[in-house]
Amino acid sequence: MVKKVPEGGYKDIFNCSPATILVMDIDAPFYTILDVNEAYLNATNSTREELVGKSVFGAFPANPTDEVSKNIERTIFSFEQAIQTKKSHTMYNYRYDIPIRGTDKFEERWWTTTNTPILDERGDVVYFIHSPANVTELIKLGEREKAGVEALKNQRKQLYSTFMQAPVGIAIFKGPDYVVELINPPLCELYGQTPEGMIGKPVFEVLTHAKGLGFEELLDDVRLTGKPFRGHDLPAPIYRNGKLETVYLDFVYEPFREDDGSISGVIAVATEVTEQVYARQQLEEAEERARLAVDAVGLGTFDLNLLTGEMITSKQFANIFGYDEPVSRHEYVKVFHPADLESRKKAHEAALDAGKLLYEARVIWPDKSTHWVKVEGKVYYDTAGKALRILGTLLDITGQKKAKEALAESEQLLRSITSAAPTTLWMSDEYGLITYVNQTWIDWTGMPFEAHIGTKWTGHIVEEDKENAAEKFENALLNRSMYEVEFRINHIDGTTHWCVANGRPQYRRDGSFSGYIGACVDITEQKYMQQQKDDFIGIASHELKTPVTSLKAYTQVLERMLQKKGDVREAEMIGRMDGQLNRLTSLIGDLLDVTKINSGKLQFNNQEFDFNTALEDLLEDLQRTTTKHTIVKKLVPAGLIHGDKERIGQVITNLVTNAIKYSPHSDKIIVYTTINDNELTLCVQDFGIGIAKKNLNKVFEQFYRVSGEMQHTFPGLGLGLYISSEIIKREGGRIWVTSEEGKGSTFCFALPIANRNK
Ligand code: ADP
Repeated sequence: MVKKVPEGGYKDIFNCSPATILVMDIDAPFYTILDVNEAYLNATNSTREELVGKSVFGAFPANPTDEVSKNIERTIFSFEQAIQTKKSHTMYNYRYDIPIRGTDKFEERWWTTTNTPILDERGDVVYFIHSPANVTELIKLGEREKAGVEALKNQRKQLYSTFMQAPVGIAIFKGPDYVVELINPPLCELYGQTPEGMIGKPVFEVLTHAKGLGFEELLDDVRLTGKPFRGHDLPAPIYRNGKLETVYLDFVYEPFREDDGSISGVIAVATEVTEQVYARQQLEEAEERARLAVDAVGLGTFDLNLLTGEMITSKQFANIFGYDEPVSRHEYVKVFHPADLESRKKAHEAALDAGKLLYEARVIWPDKSTHWVKVEGKVYYDTAGKALRILGTLLDITGQKKAKEALAESEQLLRSITSAAPTTLWMSDEYGLITYVNQTWIDWTGMPFEAHIGTKWTGHIVEEDKENAAEKFENALLNRSMYEVEFRINHIDGTTHWCVANGRPQYRRDGSFSGYIGACVDITEQKYMQQQKDDFIGIASHELKTPVTSLKAYTQVLERMLQKKGDVREAEMIGRMDGQLNRLTSLIGDLLDVTKINSGKLQFNNQEFDFNTALEDLLEDLQRTTTKHTIVKKLVPAGLIHGDKERIGQVITNLVTNAIKYSPHSDKIIVYTTINDNELTLCVQDFGIGIAKKNLNKVFEQFYRVSGEMQHTFPGLGLGLYISSEIIKREGGRIWVTSEEGKGSTFCFALPIANRNK
């Protein structure tokens, strides 16, 4: 028979049950506690008195510091669910803190609670059982576990990202084939590969060009012995940017161990040090070059310890001092020229403050020869500012010194020569500013050398001549051409002098323009003589003119008287005399004109005249002067011309007379005119002796005459063409000649007709 629980036994079960039980009324909102068991009292640190008959929320108020759990609301909700649905309702893992009795503090608690309604026969809820299980430990454990897993995950993530982001290349090669298990971007980049292209493949299958270079053996060694390998600045072939390059690597091969300690592969860590290797190589090369350069220029070097007085010197240093091998400092000092010891000492003293040592001194070699040396050094100090060492160089400058002396001598010589010259000499830079003048110019101007430097020399020219001279010089400077110009300058003594200055452009060795070298010659005397000559010619021709004019008058009277008397022969002789007088008059006229031109006094009487009429009259007269030549006219109508009829006539006369004179063996002279929009041109063509090419542009010069044996064949003063060209120039026209020796000449002039009335 089945044993039954004794009467009242259920009460014991209730009390002794390890499950916590609270019996609660359904009197919302109080939910009065009807009964409670031991387990519950234990779990909540309460006594029966504190709970029974009290509202559950009065006994277990909310923890004011717990703002998130909403435990009261959730509990009420669960109560209501149980009562309404008449079924158990469970709340899982929620927080409901328990007051620490006697204080206002709470203890954190987590619960999983079931509220179970108890129904009567009618099925109505009478009360309900509230049974919370304390899950605080469990929850805490769960939280800790979660945190642990999270931390582990984080660690893994961090490790991975460290691995991936490490600035050095890292890879794990597994097994005897060194299959790439893991490789980070830097190493991929170094290999010129992508991770996808490498992971899962034997490394030497990808990096085929690295096969057979000894890397396999290195890896094998590490994998089999467990001894790591470290490589420094090792060259490795890398296929990068589409070509095979040699890069330099620092790398480490470490054995990769499994948890059980067995070696299953190799970890490779690599950094590219190509740049550093190159930099170091370059540095080494630069050092080598510097050393070679020091040797090449014959620099000696020294390192002087200021504390001990000890000095380390190079062999070159010793050689410059006349020793075969380096000696002690004392020995070096001994051979300085005694006269230079003081300045050397001063230089050393000054160096300690200035930080730099610099002096030149003489040393005497064992063979008694003297050598100049230049010492340069830099002082090194400790942090307290105490001078410790001087490092420096030594150079034999004997050659330079000698060259400098020679240069100074030759410059002195040049100065003496230029100073002694009666002409001034000057030099300018490429901007035309004076860089040198000789003593003569200084004497002329009475200003010291320095006052001229950097100025324009035109400053001393008299006002009237300044503009012309400056313009000529500036033009020449612009074109870098030679020039010549005459002007007057005022000397310091108050006298005015004529000068002719010429300048010649100068070029540097590299071909660039460097300025001018020029001279100024005093031509006052020549000018004076020329003036005297001009004056003489003027006076002489003037004095000659009066008697010749009266002579001419008498001959004409005489000729007429003889004709009347019927003395035909005598009359003809007098007629010839008149012809000669005409020539004399014309010669005197030429002389007078030249003096007028030279003194700027040639007068013009410009007016409008009919050109062709005047020309026809003139040519008719000229035809009468020759029996041999026929003047052939080819004329275009020229209309009215503005100018001096007499002067222009004088030019035509001169050209035709010359044509007749210089073509003794021909019988034709052609005079032709042409006209275009703004010029009337007249040409006189002959078929005579012509003019040599080299003389063509000389014929218009004053006093230029046909030379050689012909000089006496053709009389003349050499003034006609000069006067003609001056006249045409003054009338605003041009004059020129074309000629061929032995064939004939054509002299032409052109006059402007731009403002002629049509
Ligand atoms: P002149 O005839 O008095 O010598 P010009 O000034 O008229 O002086 O001429 C200067 C020089 O030019 C002459 O001496 C001569 O050599 C040359 N000349 C001038 N006209 C001619 C010409 N038609 N044919 C050849 N030579 C000429």
